[in-house]
Amino acid sequence: MPNNDSGTGGDGAGEKNGKKGDSRREPPPVPEPLPAPVVDAHTHLDACGAKDPESVRDMVDRAERVGVRRVVTVADDISSARWVAQAATWDDRVFAAVAVHPTRTAKFTDSARHALKELARQPRVVAIGETGLDYYWDYSPPEAQQAAFRWHIGLAKQVGKPLMIHDRDAHEDVLSILDDEGAPETVIFHCFSGDAELAGRCVEKGYVLSFAGPVTFRNSLPLQEAARIVPAQQLLVETDAPFLTPHPYRGRPNEPYCVAYTVRYLAELRGVSVGELARTVERNSERIFGLGHSEQS
Ligand SMILES: [Zn+2]
Repeated sequence: MPNNDSGTGGDGAGEKNGKKGDSRREPPPVPEPLPAPVVDAHTHLDACGAKDPESVRDMVDRAERVGVRRVVTVADDISSARWVAQAATWDDRVFAAVAVHPTRTAKFTDSARHALKELARQPRVVAIGETGLDYYWDYSPPEAQQAAFRWHIGLAKQVGKPLMIHDRDAHEDVLSILDDEGAPETVIFHCFSGDAELAGRCVEKGYVLSFAGPVTFRNSLPLQEAARIVPAQQLLVETDAPFLTPHPYRGRPNEPYCVAYTVRYLAELRGVSVGELARTVERNSERIFGLGHSEQS
């Protein structure tokens, strides 16, 4: 789920409300294939509409045709956690992350914790997430969110898998709870939403910053500054689909294939070739999620 956008557009880019009628609902066009494969490090295949092995395969085929060869599909509650873990066994291009989203922690039951512990150990579950703090919405009180976040940090350490953080309007509390608990070996800020100053502090701690569609938005200068300073080995790219569709298709339905737009944007922003940016995030994804080297040409 997104950290900093309601998906309603608003940067004035691309289409304008009402002008083109239904064009805002059409999926973005298929981009030119990337020169090297990448992993979409954070997506929600179920929320994109995938249900069964066939619909998962269709969505990942669409992504693979433009070079997005593997995806990490992320849960936000227990039924979604069960689904993502299963989906990852249907297709060898799909991996899973499991957690209860901070906005859903008002009732974080023993049975939820038990289910997550089991799922977290499955081999195709490659991260604990998305967890963290969301002070934008008030579905769950801060105390409940903080307790659940601490519990997920412990789980990530127990199973030795990366922690995938959702941080919306809660930067300082997220960082201080990580310090207080002791951060797991690998921490990923999914859909990083801070400025260069915050990025610098995260980088210093060794955290990984994952950039989604918002980095491409016209009004995202502080975020673009942040994306410029992250060392190559601490960079990931993601869609957070179906939310946060990259510019100039903001507001339209997002899918893993659209991460190609963000890869191209980040390459230009960082002054490297698209191929180099793609190889960087592919290598990082393999190392961070333990995916193993992709065998296909
Ligand atoms: Zn998400």
